[in-house]
Amino acid sequence: MTGTTKTVHHWIGGKSVEGTSGNQGPVTDPATGEVTTRVAFASVDEVDAAVAAAKDAYASWGLSSLSKRTAVLFKFRALLDAHRDEIAELITAEHGKVHSDALGEVARGLEIVDLACGITVQLKGELSTEVASRVDVSSIRQPLGVVAGITPFNFPAMVPMWMFPIAIACGNTFVLKPSEKDPSASLKLAELLAEAGLPDGVFNVVHGDKVAVDRLLEHPDVAAVSFVGSTPIARYIHTTASANGKRVQALGGAKNHMLVLPDADLDAAADAAVSAAYGSAGERCMAISAVVAVGAVGDELVAKIKDRAEKIKIGPGNDPSSEMGPLITAAHRDKVASYVHGAAADGCEVVLDGTGHTVEGFDGGHWIGLSLLDHVPTSAQAYRDEIFGPVLSVLRVDTYEEGVALINASPFGNGTAIFTRDGGAARRFQLEVEAGMVGVNVPIPVPVGYHSFGGWKDSLFGDHHIYGNDGTHFYTRGKVVTTRWPDPSDTPAGVDLGFPRNH
Ligand code: NAD
Repeated sequence: MTGTTKTVHHWIGGKSVEGTSGNQGPVTDPATGEVTTRVAFASVDEVDAAVAAAKDAYASWGLSSLSKRTAVLFKFRALLDAHRDEIAELITAEHGKVHSDALGEVARGLEIVDLACGITVQLKGELSTEVASRVDVSSIRQPLGVVAGITPFNFPAMVPMWMFPIAIACGNTFVLKPSEKDPSASLKLAELLAEAGLPDGVFNVVHGDKVAVDRLLEHPDVAAVSFVGSTPIARYIHTTASANGKRVQALGGAKNHMLVLPDADLDAAADAAVSAAYGSAGERCMAISAVVAVGAVGDELVAKIKDRAEKIKIGPGNDPSSEMGPLITAAHRDKVASYVHGAAADGCEVVLDGTGHTVEGFDGGHWIGLSLLDHVPTSAQAYRDEIFGPVLSVLRVDTYEEGVALINASPFGNGTAIFTRDGGAARRFQLEVEAGMVGVNVPIPVPVGYHSFGGWKDSLFGDHHIYGNDGTHFYTRGKVVTTRWPDPSDTPAGVDLGFPRNH
């Protein structure tokens, strides 16, 4: 461990605020294993200060015009665009993913800012005229107030941007609790929002652990909670925040399957499997972690995947020649390795064992190589758990029906993909598979910003997917106004105790 160089503070009421709780956590450069940064952990009082700042700001932001709100978002979009590289560098330094991947994350977050810039269209209400004599009815959507976001380590810029651009465009104010493992990108976003002219208190960041999260879940002034992270914590967030009367969307973990039919283009399928399984070192909720090979294609497909996987260059994320970086922590690396070490005893054939991989000159980095397991039984621990690392399992089935049944038996239902040249089979798969996002010859079917993102089963708790139309709905509540403007010539209706009827 070398000298610590930086401390990451909270962002409350439009400025950086030093933590006073005395609690801090280490932030590590995954490529070297060195602690480069300390991050302040918020106390209950500090979370309360952020919520109070957001509540104050809501009094005017909630009533501000759509043109004022979107003007800020357009400026933020331009600043985000101009600072892509800088944000990507912050991500790589704390998460470890390669720079091009970090740039991709910023680009996908920017898509949601694009959507938020057009919130005027999303928030258009509905009007019915003359539903009864001289009576009109309008439906409008209004903001909720203070809303909170709690986000995971694996997309420190994109996942917060799945939430706050839409939330603030709808007129809410926001308190973000980002991952304590890579907190710097969220502060950069806060600075850019301030530079774009966002009024103080509309966007706040509190860093920390369970103490900060639990306070947000119980705070009486927090109206809604958006969460993205692992399934056990998502379930806890959903249960706790719901019990406290809040609107909740809690996106959890995943085990994403790719079904490869015998007629598929096997080179395209192997390219896709390697990209989707090992990109970002498998630390993506939409990573493919299980390939289901149908019929006789298994042997050839595994050979093609192995051939490609062996050529992937592993190294520090800021080296342009690296294709895959390190894992987030040494403890996580060791846990991922344990699944590979236990695979043979569980009945898997270990085709590639990436454990023990080293990178010259980076002895302390959280390195692991690519692992490939074949003939994986559904009882194997490597199949049952979300590993969240560069380990791809291949399962063998005889028929399409057997493959779909296997996928549908998984407790997770985030994303899935089918590789085939048969349009009829692909169409059946779209309808029969139990997952929230489906790719047809597309291995990572992350929806574009104007469609919503979300899984089924243990991959999402709550009724709303995130961003797209669901995002606007989540961050607003409906109101229906029934209006009568009598004409001066009308005779008074008089008292009528009957239930009002339209005529
Ligand atoms: P995590 O669940 O450990 O942490 C997520 C957030 O919850 C962090 O801000 C963390 O500080 C907080 N947290 C952790 N433990 C807590 C506790 N006991 N009480 C209250 N708060 C707690 O997840 P992670 O390791 O940061 O991220 C990886 C996970 O996120 C994977 O499971 C991945 O699949 C999932 N993920 C899902 C999606 C999706 O869209 N479904 C997207 C990205 C990541």
